[in-house]
Amino acid sequence: MKWYASFLRLLSEAADIVVPRRCALCVKRLKAGEEFLCLSCLTELPFTRYFGREGNAVERIFWGRIPICRANSYLHYFPESMVSRLFLALKYGNRPHYGCTLGAMMAAELCDTGFFDGMDAIVPIPLARKRLKQRGYNQSEMLAQGVAKVTHLPVLTDVVARVVANPTQTHLTRAERQENVQNVFTLLRPADVAGKHLLLVDDILTTGSTMTACAEEVAKGDDVKISVLTLGLAGRHGAGPERHPETINFRIETSEQ
Ligand SMILES: [Zn+2]
Repeated sequence: MKWYASFLRLLSEAADIVVPRRCALCVKRLKAGEEFLCLSCLTELPFTRYFGREGNAVERIFWGRIPICRANSYLHYFPESMVSRLFLALKYGNRPHYGCTLGAMMAAELCDTGFFDGMDAIVPIPLARKRLKQRGYNQSEMLAQGVAKVTHLPVLTDVVARVVANPTQTHLTRAERQENVQNVFTLLRPADVAGKHLLLVDDILTTGSTMTACAEEVAKGDDVKISVLTLGLAGRHGAGPERHPETINFRIETSEQ
């Protein structure tokens, strides 16, 4: 099949001449081997570098709210920065493959840390049916598929549903967000989650209200353990030595949908 691989490479090179592939962030032309980010943008992404460490900023969001075994976010999210373009493209720009690649990248960073040890399945935070129809895909499911490529854990997309397309969470306070997501999720298959350690995956974690609401619903299954993984971490959660300097003085503008 050597000729076939060569043929595919030629085809891809020819397509690049006709429609040049460009970096999703800096828009510079991509070189061979670069996917949707150039090497320079890739290395400058605002990585949290939590590596699933105990007591990290993501875990602390859930303290006193719901028991979480492990939690991690891969990138800091800054609403008006270059990195926000990546999240917007994944969520609204019809770029589901960004999710698969980024999901695989975050899983690759964590797979030697023991983060996935004992986990049985991945549950992407579901979208409401109407929103899924509008968007064509669930960005969290794309991330979950990427994580699954590395971890070989099954992705469960039908155990919990989002029954209400709650209005946008943008500009809501933490208390308002909590109210906004009440009764939004419903556990469809309690038997399928019983006794399992599930990894809930979402694109951005802001106040944690959406994730907490979904986790509470999934935890209605018997003896369910929950861990959390998100691509982005927004807000002032990075306080302490792990805090990124750019997280100071920025506004929470994301919609947790
Ligand atoms: Zn670039």
